[in-house]
Amino acid sequence: MSENIVLLEQVNKNYQQLAALQNIDLKLAAGEVLGLFGHNGAGKTTMMKLILGIIKAGSGKVSVFGVDPQNKKAWSSRKKIGYLPENVSFYDQLTGFEVLTYFARLKSADKKQVAALLDQVGLSFAENRPVRTYSKGMRQRLGLAQAFLGDPKLLLLDEPTVGLDPIATQEFYASVDQLRSNGASIILCSHILPGVEQHIDRAMILSGGKSVAAGTLSTLRDIAQLPVSIKTQGINEKLLDNKKLAAFMVAPNLLHVPESEKIDVIRELMSFKKLTDLQVETPTLAQIYHYFLENKKAGTTQEKAL
Ligand code: ATP
Repeated sequence: MSENIVLLEQVNKNYQQLAALQNIDLKLAAGEVLGLFGHNGAGKTTMMKLILGIIKAGSGKVSVFGVDPQNKKAWSSRKKIGYLPENVSFYDQLTGFEVLTYFARLKSADKKQVAALLDQVGLSFAENRPVRTYSKGMRQRLGLAQAFLGDPKLLLLDEPTVGLDPIATQEFYASVDQLRSNGASIILCSHILPGVEQHIDRAMILSGGKSVAAGTLSTLRDIAQLPVSIKTQGINEKLLDNKKLAAFMVAPNLLHVPESEKIDVIRELMSFKKLTDLQVETPTLAQIYHYFLENKKAGTTQEKAL
C-alpha cells in the first residue's frame, strides 16, 4: 500500500474554458495536516472534490489511500474519509441527534459515537431540538461532528471555523491536533488565517488554479525572506547612534531584521542596560500569504517535495 494518503500528480481540471486547477502536485502522508489557502475561486473546493471523487480530473493522477477515487474500488476507503463541505445543510426537521445517527448509519460508524461527538462539539444541550432551530455556529458544529464520525483517517474540511465563536474555534483546533496525533491526515481550507499556523504541517497557496507556494511554513518563510520585527523599549537613541542597528530601523523602536541576523541583533540589543522590553515577531501566515499572492516571482516557488 502507498504511504501517501493523498497523491496528486500534475492534476488539471477544467470547467469548459476555465482552468480551475493547473498542474497540481501534492503528497500528503499519514498524520500530516495541510492548510490550503487562496482567494475566492482559487480552486480549493475543486481540489477537495477531486480527492473525494465527486468530480474527475481532466488529466494527471489522483490517488487516495492508493486508489483512484473514480475507481469502484474506492468505495471501501470512502468510509475512512470525513468531509465538511463549505455550506453545510441538513434535514431541518430532524434533531441534531437524529441527523448524526442518520450519517452514522450511512458511514457504518458506531452509533455510540453520536452522543460522544455531540458532546465534543458542545451540542449535547440541543441534541433533541430540530436543526431548523439551530444558529449558524450550531449548524457548523453539527457539520464538524458529522465529519468526525467513524474515526476518519482522512479529513477534508472546507472553511471549518466559519461561524464558530472563539472558544468553539479553539476546541475545533484541539480536535484537529488530537486527530493528527492519532495518525489522521487533514486538508484544511480557510480564509481565517490567524490561529491556523500552529496546527498545520504544510501550506499550499492557490491562485487562479495554480499552486504559487507549497511547503512547510519555515520553508515558505525562507523563500519569502520576510523580515522579523523587533520592537524595543527605552533605547531609541542608542539605536540611532549604532550604525548597524540604525540600518534596520523602520520606525522609532522598531527594527526589521533578516531571519539570518536575528540572533546577532538580539544579542546586541540585550547589551543595552536601558533596554526595558523586547518583542520579537516572526512573519505571520497572513504576511506569507500576501507575499506569495502579490509577488510576481512566486510562480517559481513550488516546493518539489510536496
Ligand atoms: P471559495 O474560496 O470562494 O470557496 P474556491 O477556491 O473553493 O473558492 P472553487 O470552488 O474550487 O474555488 O472554484 C474554482 C473555479 O472553478 C472558480 O472560478 C469557479 O467559478 C469555477 N467552478 C467551480 N465549480 C464549477 C462548476 N460546477 N461549473 C463551472 N465552474 C465552476
